[in-house]
Amino acid sequence: MAAPAKAEVGKARRRLAAAHHAAVVSHERPDGDAVGSALATALSLRLTGKQAEAVFPDGLPARYRFLPGAATVRRDLPAGIDLIITVDCSTLDRLGPAGVAVPVVNIDHHPTNTLFGQINLVDAQASATAELLYNLAPGLGLPIDVDVATNLLAGIVTDTIGFRTASTTPRVLQAAADLMTRGAALSDVYERTLNQHSLSALRYWSHGLGRLECEGGLVWCSLTLEDRRAAQYGGNDDADLINLLGTVDGARVALILVEQADGRTKVSWRCREGFNVARLAEQFGGGGHDLAAGAMISGERAQVELTVLSATRATLEAVGPA
Ligand code: 5GP
Ligand code: MN
Repeated sequence: MAAPAKAEVGKARRRLAAAHHAAVVSHERPDGDAVGSALATALSLRLTGKQAEAVFPDGLPARYRFLPGAATVRRDLPAGIDLIITVDCSTLDRLGPAGVAVPVVNIDHHPTNTLFGQINLVDAQASATAELLYNLAPGLGLPIDVDVATNLLAGIVTDTIGFRTASTTPRVLQAAADLMTRGAALSDVYERTLNQHSLSALRYWSHGLGRLECEGGLVWCSLTLEDRRAAQYGGNDDADLINLLGTVDGARVALILVEQADGRTKVSWRCREGFNVARLAEQFGGGGHDLAAGAMISGERAQVELTVLSATRATLEAVGPA
């Protein structure tokens, strides 16, 4: 999926112009790109005189609450909205809020996007939905002031893990430079979104790292509800430990399993070039990008671990030696 066609961008521009009150939503367990893209879109729409709100049913993860507009986030869809814009969300069933009935403009960069919108602006080449929004902003008539720029930069910085991923092209760096020129503070965004970890998150990591396994190019570990309690970690995620596993020398694929209170298991995969974990995640009802994907799988952790490890090993064997 390359850059959205001009005609589709024109359609979206007219749809945005016709809207009076828009809600901007993203996927459950929002990451930096989900939050940055949603806040940027809502703030920019407000600059054009519209009513617009970013809606996150569980509020924002603490690390993103410094972002401009974070204080105006709503937990439920407001009454009277005439447009929903989804950002960074590949399928309708991953959408945060339920009850989406009004027309949807779908803006995303996941190759697994199901094009569920009335209008779909999907570019799988973009490093982040925030980069895509930056590229589309002139065509959509969305202004970028310092607050919008800060949110867009946060989306780009987090999805490229600080400009480290293979998706970081010269164009990404040019976009980031322009966002800085508009006033976004790169070092501050980088520090707050990627560099700072709570003590409890590091204690939580230590439980998982204590069970780290590495075999045949695959590195993995799991995190349990008991680990979460022992570390007093408040989230239901892996606290980004997966990105550390992905740095292990010689590992081609990293995966992490996180036990959930509802009996399901969240699995995240990361891999190096030459392997595609999105296809693997899709086998389990998930999705994502070639090099970073995830799935929420029914079943308790130990059982899911066996199934997922065996599927991942099989794919590694099928691909052959690096
Ligand atoms: P993470 O593993 O860090 O949660 O997510 C890595 C990538 O996979 C992100 O692009 C995320 O949107 C996607 N992803 C994670 N979990 C799921 C899932 O359950 N379903 C789908 N479709 N994508 C997912
Ligand atoms: Mn993204």
